[in-house]
Amino acid sequence: MSIKLGPFILPDHIVNKMRYQLHRTRVTMEEQGFNLCSDNGTLVDSDQSSGDLSNVYVNRKCSNEKQTPKVGDYHTHPMGTHDMSSEDMLGACTQHLKCIGSTKDDTIRCFVRKSDKRAEQCTQDTKRIFDESGIIEQNAKILNRELEKIKIEFNAPGIDTIKYNNKHNKKVRDHQSKAKLHNSNVDNFIKRRNEVSNKYFTEIAIKHWL
Ligand SMILES: [Zn+2]
Repeated sequence: MSIKLGPFILPDHIVNKMRYQLHRTRVTMEEQGFNLCSDNGTLVDSDQSSGDLSNVYVNRKCSNEKQTPKVGDYHTHPMGTHDMSSEDMLGACTQHLKCIGSTKDDTIRCFVRKSDKRAEQCTQDTKRIFDESGIIEQNAKILNRELEKIKIEFNAPGIDTIKYNNKHNKKVRDHQSKAKLHNSNVDNFIKRRNEVSNKYFTEIAIKHWL
Protein backbone atom coordinates (compact mmCIF):
# COMPACT_ATOMS: atom_id res chain seq x y z
CA MET A 1 0.00 0.00 0.00
CA SER A 2 1.76 3.11 -1.20
CA ILE A 3 1.12 6.55 0.21
CA LYS A 4 -0.24 9.57 -1.60
CA LEU A 5 1.75 12.75 -0.99
CA GLY A 6 -0.17 15.47 -2.82
CA PRO A 7 0.32 14.77 -6.53
CA PHE A 8 3.01 12.15 -5.83
CA ILE A 9 2.98 8.46 -4.92
CA LEU A 10 5.41 7.28 -2.25
CA PRO A 11 6.00 3.56 -2.84
CA ASP A 12 6.53 1.14 0.04
CA HIS A 13 10.15 0.40 -0.77
CA ILE A 14 11.02 4.09 -0.33
CA VAL A 15 9.21 4.08 3.04
CA ASN A 16 11.40 1.11 3.96
CA LYS A 17 14.52 3.05 2.97
CA MET A 18 13.34 5.95 5.12
CA ARG A 19 12.87 3.60 8.05
CA TYR A 20 16.27 2.03 7.50
CA GLN A 21 17.96 5.47 7.51
CA LEU A 22 16.07 6.36 10.68
CA HIS A 23 17.37 3.21 12.30
CA ARG A 24 20.88 4.02 11.10
CA THR A 25 20.57 7.51 12.57
CA ARG A 26 19.77 6.06 15.97
CA VAL A 27 22.93 3.96 15.84
CA THR A 28 25.35 6.54 14.41
CA MET A 29 23.75 9.77 15.72
CA GLU A 30 24.37 11.23 12.29
CA GLU A 31 21.73 12.78 10.07
CA GLN A 32 20.98 10.75 6.97
CA GLY A 33 19.24 12.00 3.87
CA PHE A 34 18.35 11.38 0.26
CA ASN A 35 16.60 13.06 -2.62
CA LEU A 36 13.03 12.37 -3.64
CA CYS A 37 12.67 12.57 -7.40
CA SER A 38 9.55 12.21 -9.50
CA ASP A 39 9.36 9.55 -12.17
CA ASN A 40 6.05 10.55 -13.74
CA GLY A 41 4.54 11.13 -10.31
CA THR A 42 6.07 8.11 -8.58
CA LEU A 43 8.77 9.02 -6.10
CA VAL A 44 12.21 7.49 -6.50
CA ASP A 45 15.20 8.02 -4.21
CA SER A 46 18.73 9.08 -5.10
CA ASP A 47 21.87 10.71 -3.70
CA GLN A 48 21.91 9.04 -0.28
CA SER A 49 24.27 10.92 2.07
CA SER A 50 25.37 11.08 5.72
CA GLY A 51 25.98 14.17 7.78
CA ASP A 52 26.68 14.92 11.42
CA LEU A 53 24.59 15.39 14.56
CA SER A 54 22.85 18.52 13.27
CA ASN A 55 23.22 18.61 9.50
CA VAL A 56 23.22 16.66 6.30
CA TYR A 57 23.88 17.93 2.81
CA VAL A 58 21.70 16.42 0.10
CA ASN A 59 22.44 17.14 -3.58
CA ARG A 60 20.45 19.93 -5.16
CA LYS A 61 19.58 17.75 -8.14
CA CYS A 62 18.74 14.10 -8.54
CA SER A 63 21.73 12.42 -10.08
CA ASN A 64 20.08 9.08 -10.78
CA GLU A 65 20.32 7.35 -14.12
CA LYS A 66 17.02 8.66 -15.43
CA GLN A 67 17.81 12.26 -14.30
CA THR A 68 14.31 12.54 -12.89
CA PRO A 69 13.46 15.97 -11.44
CA LYS A 70 13.95 16.55 -7.70
CA VAL A 71 10.68 17.35 -5.96
CA GLY A 72 11.88 17.17 -2.36
CA ASP A 73 14.01 15.22 0.04
CA TYR A 74 14.04 13.10 3.15
CA HIS A 75 16.35 13.55 6.13
CA THR A 76 16.53 12.39 9.71
CA HIS A 77 16.68 14.23 13.03
CA PRO A 78 18.94 12.47 15.56
CA MET A 79 17.95 14.91 18.33
CA GLY A 80 15.01 17.08 17.29
CA THR A 81 11.36 16.31 16.70
CA HIS A 82 9.62 15.41 13.47
CA ASP A 83 8.79 19.11 12.93
CA MET A 84 10.57 21.01 10.18
CA SER A 85 13.28 23.34 11.46
CA SER A 86 13.13 26.86 10.04
CA GLU A 87 16.04 25.87 7.79
CA ASP A 88 14.08 22.83 6.58
CA MET A 89 11.13 25.11 5.88
CA LEU A 90 13.25 27.53 3.87
CA GLY A 91 14.31 24.65 1.63
CA ALA A 92 10.80 23.24 1.42
CA CYS A 93 9.25 26.55 0.28
CA THR A 94 10.79 26.09 -3.16
CA GLN A 95 10.15 22.34 -3.37
CA HIS A 96 7.05 20.19 -3.34
CA LEU A 97 7.75 18.15 -0.24
CA LYS A 98 10.02 17.54 2.70
CA CYS A 99 10.02 14.31 4.69
CA ILE A 100 11.56 14.00 8.14
CA GLY A 101 12.30 10.97 10.27
CA SER A 102 12.65 11.59 13.97
CA THR A 103 14.40 9.27 16.41
CA LYS A 104 12.66 11.09 19.25
CA ASP A 105 9.21 9.67 18.53
CA ASP A 106 10.16 7.11 15.88
CA THR A 107 7.96 8.68 13.23
CA ILE A 108 8.30 9.78 9.64
CA ARG A 109 6.34 12.80 8.54
CA CYS A 110 6.09 14.39 5.14
CA PHE A 111 5.22 18.03 4.59
CA VAL A 112 3.58 18.63 1.25
CA ARG A 113 3.49 22.21 0.03
CA LYS A 114 -0.02 23.49 -0.47
CA SER A 115 -0.28 24.28 -4.14
CA ASP A 116 -2.38 27.40 -3.69
CA LYS A 117 0.28 29.23 -1.67
CA ARG A 118 3.10 31.02 -3.36
CA ALA A 119 6.73 30.08 -2.88
CA GLU A 120 7.95 33.66 -2.46
CA GLN A 121 5.46 34.37 0.30
CA CYS A 122 6.45 31.12 2.03
CA THR A 123 10.12 32.07 1.79
CA GLN A 124 9.44 35.56 3.13
CA ASP A 125 7.48 34.32 6.16
CA THR A 126 10.01 31.59 6.84
CA LYS A 127 12.98 33.97 6.64
CA ARG A 128 11.50 35.94 9.50
CA ILE A 129 11.21 32.73 11.54
CA PHE A 130 14.72 31.72 10.51
CA ASP A 131 16.17 35.05 11.75
CA GLU A 132 14.30 34.60 15.01
CA SER A 133 15.80 31.14 15.46
CA GLY A 134 19.26 32.70 15.15
CA ILE A 135 18.50 35.15 17.96
CA ILE A 136 17.16 32.35 20.15
CA GLU A 137 20.25 30.19 19.55
CA GLN A 138 22.49 33.14 20.36
CA ASN A 139 20.60 33.76 23.58
CA ALA A 140 20.87 30.09 24.55
CA LYS A 141 24.66 30.30 24.12
CA ILE A 142 24.87 33.41 26.30
CA LEU A 143 22.82 31.72 29.02
CA ASN A 144 24.98 28.59 28.90
CA ARG A 145 28.16 30.63 29.22
CA GLU A 146 26.64 32.49 32.15
CA LEU A 147 25.72 29.22 33.85
CA GLU A 148 29.27 27.89 33.40
CA LYS A 149 30.62 31.06 35.01
CA ILE A 150 28.24 30.69 37.96
CA LYS A 151 29.38 27.08 38.45
CA ILE A 152 33.04 28.10 38.44
CA GLU A 153 32.38 30.91 40.90
CA PHE A 154 30.58 28.52 43.19
CA ASN A 155 33.78 26.52 43.57
CA ALA A 156 35.98 29.58 44.04
CA PRO A 157 37.42 30.41 47.48
CA GLY A 158 35.29 32.76 49.58
CA ILE A 159 32.02 30.91 49.11
CA ASP A 160 31.73 30.53 52.88
CA THR A 161 31.30 34.22 53.64
CA ILE A 162 27.75 35.52 53.92
CA LYS A 163 28.46 38.41 51.62
CA TYR A 164 29.77 36.11 48.90
CA ASN A 165 26.89 33.72 49.40
CA ASN A 166 24.28 36.44 49.00
CA LYS A 167 25.95 37.74 45.90
CA HIS A 168 26.17 34.26 44.47
CA ASN A 169 22.55 33.43 45.26
CA LYS A 170 21.38 36.59 43.60
CA LYS A 171 23.29 35.66 40.46
CA VAL A 172 21.69 32.21 40.49
CA ARG A 173 18.21 33.73 40.89
CA ASP A 174 18.84 36.23 38.08
CA HIS A 175 20.04 33.44 35.85
CA GLN A 176 17.03 31.29 36.66
CA SER A 177 14.59 34.04 35.75
CA LYS A 178 16.46 34.71 32.50
CA ALA A 179 16.35 30.99 31.69
CA LYS A 180 12.63 30.91 32.42
CA LEU A 181 12.03 33.81 30.05
CA HIS A 182 14.21 32.13 27.44
CA ASN A 183 12.24 28.89 27.68
CA SER A 184 8.94 30.67 27.18
CA ASN A 185 10.46 32.50 24.19
CA VAL A 186 11.43 29.13 22.75
CA ASP A 187 7.89 27.79 23.28
CA ASN A 188 6.41 30.84 21.54
CA PHE A 189 8.92 30.55 18.74
CA ILE A 190 8.04 26.88 18.09
CA LYS A 191 4.36 27.78 18.09
CA ARG A 192 4.89 30.53 15.52
CA ARG A 193 7.18 28.34 13.43
CA ASN A 194 4.56 25.58 13.32
CA GLU A 195 1.89 28.12 12.40
CA VAL A 196 3.92 29.11 9.35
CA SER A 197 4.47 25.42 8.60
CA ASN A 198 0.71 24.74 8.77
CA LYS A 199 -0.01 27.73 6.56
CA TYR A 200 2.11 26.48 3.67
CA PHE A 201 2.34 22.72 4.18
CA THR A 202 0.07 19.76 4.75
CA GLU A 203 1.53 17.34 7.26
CA ILE A 204 1.19 13.64 6.51
CA ALA A 205 2.30 11.06 9.06
CA ILE A 206 3.53 7.76 7.69
CA LYS A 207 2.21 5.29 10.18
CA HIS A 208 1.97 1.96 8.48
CA TRP A 209 5.14 0.04 9.12
CA LEU A 210 5.63 -2.88 6.81
ZN1 LIG B 1 15.75 19.03 9.60
